[in-house]
Amino acid sequence: MTETCYKSFIGGRYLANGGGETLAVVNPGTGEAIYRIEIADESVLEAAVNAAQAGFKVWSAMPAAKRGRILLKAVALLRERNDDLARIEVLDTGKPWQEASSVDITTGADSIEFFAGLAASLEGNQQDLGGDFYYTRREPLGICAGIGAWNYPLQIACWKAAPALACGNTMIFKPSEETPLGALKLAEIFIEAGMPPGVFNVVLGAAEVGAWLTHDTRIAKVSFTGEVATGKKVMAAAATTLKDVTMELGGKSPLIIFADSDLDEAVSAALVANFYTQGEVCTNGTRVFVERPLYDAFLGRAKARTEANITVGNPMDPATNLGALISKTHYALVLDYIEKGKSEGARLVSGGHALAPKGVEGGFYVAPTIFADCTDDMIITQEEIFGPVMAVLPFDGEDEVIARANNTRYGLAAGVYTKDIRRAHRVVHQLEAGICWINAYGASPAEMPVGGFKQSGIGRENGVETLKHYTQIKAVYVGMQPIESPF
Ligand code: NAD
Repeated sequence: MTETCYKSFIGGRYLANGGGETLAVVNPGTGEAIYRIEIADESVLEAAVNAAQAGFKVWSAMPAAKRGRILLKAVALLRERNDDLARIEVLDTGKPWQEASSVDITTGADSIEFFAGLAASLEGNQQDLGGDFYYTRREPLGICAGIGAWNYPLQIACWKAAPALACGNTMIFKPSEETPLGALKLAEIFIEAGMPPGVFNVVLGAAEVGAWLTHDTRIAKVSFTGEVATGKKVMAAAATTLKDVTMELGGKSPLIIFADSDLDEAVSAALVANFYTQGEVCTNGTRVFVERPLYDAFLGRAKARTEANITVGNPMDPATNLGALISKTHYALVLDYIEKGKSEGARLVSGGHALAPKGVEGGFYVAPTIFADCTDDMIITQEEIFGPVMAVLPFDGEDEVIARANNTRYGLAAGVYTKDIRRAHRVVHQLEAGICWINAYGASPAEMPVGGFKQSGIGRENGVETLKHYTQIKAVYVGMQPIESPF
């Protein structure tokens, strides 16, 4: 193990904690510890709030166009350092280099670019009241806490920072303790781009550090990405000080494939929706409903393409297109779900076991797995597995599949494949999901708002819509004549 130990990044510099308590970060691709982080203690957290308060004074008073220009400089630096940052993401998460080098950094940069452009567009309105009038101002909230998951560490940090900072807020971001380095690099880049110290701070640590942020009275909002169960705790804690919340939580999303679909396109969508980032994507379409006339052909093609085209191996190898799961614990959990699928009577079509690719035997690899003949009540069709496990279910009609697709506490995403344009829209309009794709799956451009219905979330990220979640309206009444008084 190397001696490198990263500290929290507060007020534009790295800050040591008082007690020296640390945590190891493991490369999931090899199973080896690669560096350590210092856990933020009370003194670091106090410093973070003080820095964010000082940063807010400067940042919120700055002309919005100037904030936008600084954010755009950060975008340029992110793009320039794409490969260095992608390497960090691969080593921290175990995802394939193929993905990280082409998607993770660019989609983070895209979001900052989008909100940088919108920064100067924030405006209020004015209404005449017959002499008197009122106007509104869209003002920042103050200090926003961002709490991230481990699957898209740098992208999540960018997606939270972008709207928050464009609107004039400051942020204290806590990355997942399993993947903390990307957020620290983003903090360095913001400073290099000319952002005042204290505008974007990173505190390191696990649940206790996150919980501290959710309770602090000086923090105005919490934007959280993670599991539903954690989201409930975060929201309950935020309620103690009536903080605004954005919740980006888990899902068990349906992908509905009608019999008139192009078979290969539908199979492509199902493979992307289940095996991209080794299945660790919140919007994954893990319940694949296939209309009966296409069912056998779909399974045959999905199996053949999975077994011929998926290369599991060292995530840094450019040929690898399915990497390692985030941790040994998560790997054991995913394998346990696979065993449950087998014992519940789902038919195993492909995979269904762990893998130990040559040269990286210590990593946490699971074969891409396809189960057929799944039923709605099975554990593998009800719970979010967050691994490369596809559950395929046959269906016979439109109304039936809509009811079954909606029969879940989640409502993050959904996909529909069909050549019938009217049916596509008719079905999508009845699906209880915040993000829907028609003849597509997974794309999430910065322009498009994303977030969940039901227990998959509250609020949105990306899209113009998100500006509302990082600002508050101030109404100002202006009296143009002497005030009437009964006293
Ligand atoms: P998690 O809920 O275990 O942890 C998320 C973050 O919360 C981590 O930083 C963790 O340290 C912190 N945390 C834990 N307990 C806390 C507490 N009591 N108070 C405050 N913070 C606390 O989630 P994870 O395992 O890191 O991520 C996987 C989950 O994230 C999946 O469910 C996935 O669907 C979801 N996810 C959702 C989206 C989305 O946009 N909807 C995106 C990515 C991931």
